Amino acid sequence: MKSSGGSFPSMKLSKPVLKGIYKKGYKNPTPIQRKTIPIVLNGQDVVAMARTGSGKTAAFLIPIIEKLQSHKIEKGARVLILSPTRELALQTYKFAREFARFTDLKCETILGGDSMERQFSKIHENPDIIIATPGRLLHVAIEMDLKFSSVQMIVFDEADRLFEMGFKEQLTEILSRLSSKRQTLLFSATLPQTIVDFTRAGLIDPVLVRLDTETKISENLRLIHLGCRNEDKLATLLHLLKNVIKSNEQIIVFLPTRHHIEYIKEILDQCFIPSTYLYSSLDSEARKINIRTFHLKKVPVLLVTDLAARGVDIPLLDNVINFNFPSRSKLFVHRVGRTARAGRSGTAYSLISNDELPYLFTLSLFLNQPFKAANPSILNNEDDDDDDGCKYGTVPQTIIDEENEIIQKLHGQFSELDSMEKVCQSAYKQYLKTREIADGESVRKMKSFLENEKIGYHPIFIDRTIKQNDQRKMENERVEMLSSIKSYKPNMTVFEIGKNNKANTAREVMKMKRQVTEKILGKKSNHSSEQTETNFKDKEFYLNYQSNDFHFEKGLQLTKSFDTQLKESILDFDDEIFKQRKRLERIQTHQKKRQRQRVVGHNKGKAMKRKGKR
Ligand code: AMP
Repeated sequence: MKSSGGSFPSMKLSKPVLKGIYKKGYKNPTPIQRKTIPIVLNGQDVVAMARTGSGKTAAFLIPIIEKLQSHKIEKGARVLILSPTRELALQTYKFAREFARFTDLKCETILGGDSMERQFSKIHENPDIIIATPGRLLHVAIEMDLKFSSVQMIVFDEADRLFEMGFKEQLTEILSRLSSKRQTLLFSATLPQTIVDFTRAGLIDPVLVRLDTETKISENLRLIHLGCRNEDKLATLLHLLKNVIKSNEQIIVFLPTRHHIEYIKEILDQCFIPSTYLYSSLDSEARKINIRTFHLKKVPVLLVTDLAARGVDIPLLDNVINFNFPSRSKLFVHRVGRTARAGRSGTAYSLISNDELPYLFTLSLFLNQPFKAANPSILNNEDDDDDDGCKYGTVPQTIIDEENEIIQKLHGQFSELDSMEKVCQSAYKQYLKTREIADGESVRKMKSFLENEKIGYHPIFIDRTIKQNDQRKMENERVEMLSSIKSYKPNMTVFEIGKNNKANTAREVMKMKRQVTEKILGKKSNHSSEQTETNFKDKEFYLNYQSNDFHFEKGLQLTKSFDTQLKESILDFDDEIFKQRKRLERIQTHQKKRQRQRVVGHNKGKAMKRKGKR
């Protein structure tokens, strides 16, 4: 059975809401959104165990906007959203405005710290949605004698924090002012007894949405994300197989196409790395033999495509290498599903080019498992980099150069490798056409990550030999030089080079453009300095937006949501493979058609010429 509400369109949302979602850059709902949105649309009360990072904000905002549809002139807000902190409320407000962009719904905030007069006039402006901190909302309600009789829905966001911060009385008071027919949604990372009691008293037959205890991926699985260019992936793969992974461990390598399998198998043979392979067009006898060879541990490496790996009884193994990063998070989970099971540990290495990086952001959201950039100054430190959490780091150029040299030598010795490589390149172009497009939000995150983070070598490459010998200094200089090249911005364009040149139009245009943009940039930087000046954060009393046990709790959440999701994912995966095949077929038919048209056109041209001659 395929899960209902698997995608935003299947949730039967109206056009303006769907447009808002896509404009925000979301392509597929996160697990909490899949589960919650249909229930809220159905009018039921909800208690959802979800925390920041799971996509919970959209899980309540999307159905709210769908239900409200358009602005109502009659007096009174129809939705109240209560947040524990000003920061969270402002973030929710921003999201609400973005999602409601294609509707005429009005949204306002009532927050502690803002002017009361301004808030009175905000209420008079008759907003449809009020996002508030409870203390100030109650204050305003008492001052203005608000009854909240028009409120149809109320959301308690981060309810556990609302209670931790002592808002219990205000919450009960606000709830008691609402009509008993209202719909109540409560989002909380944890469910302590106080919240359970509050829920019993204030909610009607709520549906509990919780992300179950089974993890999506085993907690013993180490995720290693390696940033490298597409051209350097083979070199990185060789290095991993030869130097990083232990010789007694079994490895499955996921490759994009059958042609990659054939080419890489040849290279591995020449490098004396025993391997076997599976691709879908392989005849059943050969498949059986190859799987058996791998099962019996006669060879350590199995090269596969996603299609070929389906339905195959792959044994529990130690390592998975993703030569290409999967465009769907479920596919990633599916690939690594055979590793780190039954009490064993395991590692998933992913070779990620910049165009694949957005998929890593989507995955980290899906798994609720953030990653961080490897520390660029690791080579300076005497201590090992603490390897907590998963890291995204690059591959040292020395390693790539070394392996590439070997690959080039092999190409020199075996001429067929050149043509095999070319076939791979054109097959890869086809593969890219069938690859799912990354969602806009992840693309934005990827750009800002690449621009703002200094990314160092992944700690797996920083071994003691490098740390202890003279190479250390050299490597440091290299890292620094590369990062300075990366952040280098010339202060003039090619049109303006050479001051003594006669004035030409391009130069004048650039000059004018610079004057305009410099003004805008100047304004921007002034604005940002103002912002920092107004930051009166008192370290002693400041309450963090995220609770201290955020990451621990997040880990728990992951574990739970997975069982059901995994079942769904396997079914969706079947469907995805089918869709992918169809897409490929469509592309191929289209190409054949165009070829035919070209041939017909060519023949027609010839016939016309012949006629003309006659
Ligand atoms: P939240 O848990 O609501 O604070 O969301 C965490 C982050 O995930 C925010 O940056 C959201 O914009 C992003 N996000 C939430 N849902 C989705 C989705 N369906 N697709 C892509 N990004 C999302």
